[in-house]
Amino acid sequence: MIDLHMHTSCSDGQFMPEETIRMAWEAGVTTAAVTDHDTTAGVAVAEKAAKHYGLQLFSGIEISTQGAAELHMLGYGIDPDDPKLLAFCRDFQVQRKARAVRMVAYLEQCGAPVTLEEVRQCNDGRCSGRPHFARTLVEKGFADSVQDAFARYLTTPEFYAHVERQKPLPENAIAVIRHAGGVAVLAHPYLLYLEQSQLDVLLTKLQASGLQGIEAYYSRHTPAQTQCYLRLAKQHGLIVTCGSDFHGPAVKPDIAIGTGICGNLCVESREIPEALSKKIAIARKTRGETAKF
Ligand code: AMP
Ligand code: FE
Ligand code: FE
Ligand code: ZN
Repeated sequence: MIDLHMHTSCSDGQFMPEETIRMAWEAGVTTAAVTDHDTTAGVAVAEKAAKHYGLQLFSGIEISTQGAAELHMLGYGIDPDDPKLLAFCRDFQVQRKARAVRMVAYLEQCGAPVTLEEVRQCNDGRCSGRPHFARTLVEKGFADSVQDAFARYLTTPEFYAHVERQKPLPENAIAVIRHAGGVAVLAHPYLLYLEQSQLDVLLTKLQASGLQGIEAYYSRHTPAQTQCYLRLAKQHGLIVTCGSDFHGPAVKPDIAIGTGICGNLCVESREIPEALSKKIAIARKTRGETAKF
């Protein structure tokens, strides 16, 4: 089984990178990628664990960008120590910390007061992302579930207008991924809520900046959506990837590693890692050169 989208405790996942890889192996995953939000901190440990269990592992990252509420760019095969990528990520950490302070003020206004200390306590000393706040909101009785906390407070128009951090342009995220020797793939396209024709236009634009793939297989895609993204990939000459977006049951209780939601993922195709490996090999070779995809 192939799962190229999972989060660890280095971002907002529940489990450490080595635990996540062990769980992937136990679930029957043979090819994996750890794709933490805006950090490569878990890649080295994940690589060690993958070697131990005999799993094929791609290095990875998921970068949140502007352009839509959730336009996320996956980067595969990146050098996790690339100085430009690390500087890019450091900037994100600063933005996240500042956003966390705004979130406290915003939630107080919403009548759901939480403190940074409470968020930390609820999340093993970590408090960087919205899922951490969501768990605290549930713990304090301000929401029924993580999903409910997102719907009520963390994906509202007010949140996006006044609280959300400044995010890079997708083109910049692609450039940084390519600079680090990686391949850029558009994550969970359904979250863009675009008509097929609009997505078509966006893909053309992003491809001109170096986008090379689309995450057609994803836990929350309907079969019709998957078919639509496979068609678009073919038309555009993009590779397709497959990811569960596993975070652990405390964060996304319905998503299982490798298998997705009630077994809707379970992708076995060897073509996916083979095509990705080929693109990564070219990306590594042409690293530093521009406009050569
Ligand atoms: P952040 O990077 O801190 O803004 O948080 C992004 C995380 O929040 C990602 O893991 C998303 O999958 C998660 N997320 C975004 N929207 C929702 C939602 N409606 N329900 C649950 N999780 C969400
Ligand atoms: Fe996440
Ligand atoms: Fe995402
Ligand atoms: Zn993700």
